[in-house]
Amino acid sequence: MQHTTTIAILGGGLSGLYAAHLLQLQGIPFTLFEARTRLGGRIHSTPQGFDLGPAWFWPEANPRISQLVNEFGLSWFEQHSAGAALFGFVGGSTAARNRLDNEQLKALAVEQLSQLFGPAAANPLAVHHQEWGNDALLSTADDLQGTGQHPHYARRTLPQPWAELVQLAGTENSPEAGGYLEGALESAQWAVQHIQRAIH
Ligand SMILES: Cc1cc2nc3c(=O)[nH]c(=O)nc-3n(C[C@H](O)[C@H](O)[C@H](O)COP(=O)(O)OP(=O)(O)OC[C@H]3O[C@@H](n4cnc5c(N)ncnc54)[C@H](O)[C@@H]3O)c2cc1C
Repeated sequence: MQHTTTIAILGGGLSGLYAAHLLQLQGIPFTLFEARTRLGGRIHSTPQGFDLGPAWFWPEANPRISQLVNEFGLSWFEQHSAGAALFGFVGGSTAARNRLDNEQLKALAVEQLSQLFGPAAANPLAVHHQEWGNDALLSTADDLQGTGQHPHYARRTLPQPWAELVQLAGTENSPEAGGYLEGALESAQWAVQHIQRAIH
């Protein structure tokens, strides 16, 4: 069957990219719009390959991400591997962190990691810091006050007449695994299923 409907995907994070992948597998044409000059959204790493966003997945609890990792032949390693970078979060709200400068934040993170992992962690080769709460393409003014606790997300749809035309994907729209990579995939799958029904 020839598809003529034009589908726009807004955002080239994992959810948008997975929606694109699913549509492509079914031969459904789409255009993906990404506001940044790079794809991946919160999946981002330093040029040396250190993660500034997600680093973990849980093979038994995350069937979709596990399947994608296998499908694309991606390599992964277990958390307790020798030579792995240390990864930590400085807690509290973005607003509170914004009262400290970059060097103060890095010093706090190193202090915490050395308490956890011993004195060797006090002299890292390099420290990379990323504040996602100040990212205008990700966070809102309300997020500045967020405590960093992991909320429970519900599935949201738009009111009519938009409900038939616009599907919300993105990890924050996944009641199953909201906030995680798995949720970005689950919500994309859900959105694409709705698109399929709407165009057939
Ligand atoms: C520090 C950190 C650590 C994390 N660790 C883990 C982990 O270990 N394991 C795990 O499972 N999850 C982790 N997560 C969560 C995981 O990164 C996210 O769940 C997932 O990447 C979200 O993907 P997404 O596509 O839903 O959203 P995003 O990745 O936010 O993608 C949204 C995209 O939309 C784009 N965009 C925004 N506005 C517009 C616009 N107007 N027009 C066009 N494009 C636009 C953005 O630039 C972005 O590329 C972590 C997140 C962070 C921040």
